[in-house]
Amino acid sequence: MTKQIVIIGAGPGGYPAALKAASLGAQVTLIEKAQAGGVCLNCGCIPSKSLLDAAHRFESVRKAGALSSVPELAEGFYKTFDFAKIQTRRQNVIERLRRGLLSLFKAAKINYIEGSASFVSDKEITVNGQTIAFDAAIIAAGSKAFYPAPFDKYKDKLFDNSNIFTLQNVPARLTIIGGGVIGCEFACIFNALGCKVTIVEMLPSIVSAEDDDSIRVLKTSFEKRGIKLLTGRGAKDIQFDGNIKKIVLDDGSIVESEEVLVAVGRTVDLTELKPEAAGIAWTRKGIVADPKTLKVKDNIYAVGDVNGLCLLAHAATAQGEVAAEVIMGHNAAYNNDLIPKAIYTWPEVASIGLNKKEAAAKSIEVKTHKFFMLANGRALTQDETEGFTQILEDAQTGKIIGAQIVGASAAELIHIPLVAMHAGMSAADLHRVVFAHPTIAESIKDSLNK
Ligand code: FAD
Repeated sequence: MTKQIVIIGAGPGGYPAALKAASLGAQVTLIEKAQAGGVCLNCGCIPSKSLLDAAHRFESVRKAGALSSVPELAEGFYKTFDFAKIQTRRQNVIERLRRGLLSLFKAAKINYIEGSASFVSDKEITVNGQTIAFDAAIIAAGSKAFYPAPFDKYKDKLFDNSNIFTLQNVPARLTIIGGGVIGCEFACIFNALGCKVTIVEMLPSIVSAEDDDSIRVLKTSFEKRGIKLLTGRGAKDIQFDGNIKKIVLDDGSIVESEEVLVAVGRTVDLTELKPEAAGIAWTRKGIVADPKTLKVKDNIYAVGDVNGLCLLAHAATAQGEVAAEVIMGHNAAYNNDLIPKAIYTWPEVASIGLNKKEAAAKSIEVKTHKFFMLANGRALTQDETEGFTQILEDAQTGKIIGAQIVGASAAELIHIPLVAMHAGMSAADLHRVVFAHPTIAESIKDSLNK
């Protein structure tokens, strides 16, 4: 008999699960209460990269002024950026990709339903007044922006990492509460568009989960470009004075700006979904799932942000596909250790596997191979000399156990050590590979020179 699978959420966790399950012969119902593509497509990865690209283009024009006989022309052109056009392009990209998804669902004969799903039991779900029986369900309900108190009382006056895209104009000043990945990406966008950006971060550094040297490069670069970093200080309160928002810090100082972006992380809210009706417990951190099979209980799985294993779109996709395969009786397992991470700041920061702190915590003796972009020919030709490539080799086995790349195209280049790690290559094996010259990728090979 054909397996009936219900998937809740059509984000990067849910829709690849639906496509995979359908390709393996299941009858799939995919339920989405907002828009196909989830946070990633509609208010996350894709729109933020569209804004980043626009900001980067104008910043590049401005820099080109240094090579012009009339530098003021470049500065003048830079100032002509039209935020409404930038926003329209962002929206067009989203709609194009969303149309693509809907046609994929149709081609795969997926029963796509728009509506908010709620569990009735561990065998049935209801949506738009219709009850649907299932053999297996995949919860891919994602996460939403988290507002700590007292900022949660002023949601309508503040922006978060999902609705910041609705801004009509670039504010003169923007305070970003939270110096994590999303906060830092938005700092780059708005700084490049001429806004005075201040990041308030409670921890001692921005992007604190990263390698210490990566953090240092990013911090120096941000400060050089005028992004103000107030680290080690928490945002305690907010006051409103006409159009000005005043963030009160825990040391008593006040940061004033026209707009505030609250980017302190994500939270899970399954109030509408009611997993408890299917016997599944949840908290604001999500649902606990097996880290390999993504199974929560016999016939119910949880993938993507909702299980908290790794809050990244490609991790959600990998998990969704594994869950679909497991349900369909295939031997598949998710591996959280080989998920690349990229921060799309300038310079970009990307990593895979262990960093030095993590290797030390696991008592792994590492041999560090490092090459600075300042010595890379291609980086020099592009004036993009911030950063480095670092490969970590297990001193006992010679295998690559981690890599950190900071610099231009780092988010692309990290796939080289990623593939090497998948293939079980040693540092010496990777060093024998011939790289094209001149490329920034050569910094990987050069880092491995004896
Ligand atoms: P989501 O994308 O959140 O999708 C879940 C879907 O479930 C939603 O569409 C929701 O409407 C639906 N849903 C929830 N409850 C119900 C219900 N009861 N019934 C029906 N439908 C329901 N990650 C990266 O890897 N790279 C990036 O560059 C990146 N940039 C980001 C930038 C920003 C600003 C943000 C906010 C996030 C970014 N992320 C990025 C993270 C990425 O967006 C998430 O990790 C990813 O979207 C998680 O996918 P998901 O399928 O688990 O959840």
